[in-house]
Amino acid sequence: MNKKKILISGGSGFIGSHLCDFFVKNGDIVWCIDNLITSKRKNVENLLKEKNFIFIEKDITYLNEDEIDEKFDYVLHFASPASPCDYLKYPIETLRVNSIGTEKMLNIALKSKSTFLFSSTSEVYGDPLIPVQNEEYWGNVNPIGLRSVYDEGKRYGEAMVMAYHRKYKLNTKIIRIFNTYGPRMRLNDGRVIPNFIYNALNNQPLPIYGDGKQTRSFCYIDDLIEGIIKVLEIDYNLPINLGNPEEFTIIELAEKIEKIFEKKLGFKFLPPMPDDPRKRRPDITLAKKLLNWEPKINLENGLKKTISYYLSC
Ligand code: UDP
Repeated sequence: MNKKKILISGGSGFIGSHLCDFFVKNGDIVWCIDNLITSKRKNVENLLKEKNFIFIEKDITYLNEDEIDEKFDYVLHFASPASPCDYLKYPIETLRVNSIGTEKMLNIALKSKSTFLFSSTSEVYGDPLIPVQNEEYWGNVNPIGLRSVYDEGKRYGEAMVMAYHRKYKLNTKIIRIFNTYGPRMRLNDGRVIPNFIYNALNNQPLPIYGDGKQTRSFCYIDDLIEGIIKVLEIDYNLPINLGNPEEFTIIELAEKIEKIFEKKLGFKFLPPMPDDPRKRRPDITLAKKLLNWEPKINLENGLKKTISYYLSC
């Protein structure tokens, strides 16, 4: 099989590092670029000794694209804070990496005639007014709310990607990633699954923002990576939802954690997060049809794998 050369921004982040693993193991040449703002070098430590892996510590928004003169098969743009806590802490950086950063990565892809993939998000749907979100839904986003730095940043990024596709015929892909979890998520990254596991490991009550009746659908990282690889191989340029359609309330998730840990931890109700979407569930009909893909790992098994990872750290 033909080996590929791949540039991944955000390659030492949670999703990016799993992609680096996949491609390096496959024998491809991987250039990983990351400023480590919300990620850890440790995520790619195991790859640093591989001769087909190159790590560059840099903020892509300050990258001079003209200095990169490589021919990449794929340019994958995964750099961005992604946890609400992180993007509330780094609002300007979040907007910049999804605007300036996206443009710079697109320019690299254009120069080297690469396939370009933009990691977008279910947050483009905002606080959805329909129970299950398909790709045709335009969303319900507060453009000036606290979450807007991420939501609007990603929406702008999608618009920029489509503009490059339409104007320059660049082979672009957009994936809208729904809540994903698994090994290498920082235990203190603020998202619900690592937060619950952290509290369970410390015998603390599980923090629930708001009434806990809001829903999310959680996809295990291995399923997501399989979906991303498939997206790269098909001839389709419009956004594709990737996520697990099994939907849970946050209270149901907390109960699952208690069951797995076999502990009665109790819940601590806290004020709701600003503009917190009430429901989120992907319609993955398109992904099923185009990719012949659907998640295989259910929440309970995925949580057990994730907990084992944290226990082994
Ligand atoms: N949440 C919670 N407790 C936590 C962290 C999050 O109840 O310790 C809630 C949060 O308000 C949201 C859902 O869990 O409704 C998912 O939050 P997360 O930060 O994981 O991701 P989001 O889907 O909001 O990007």
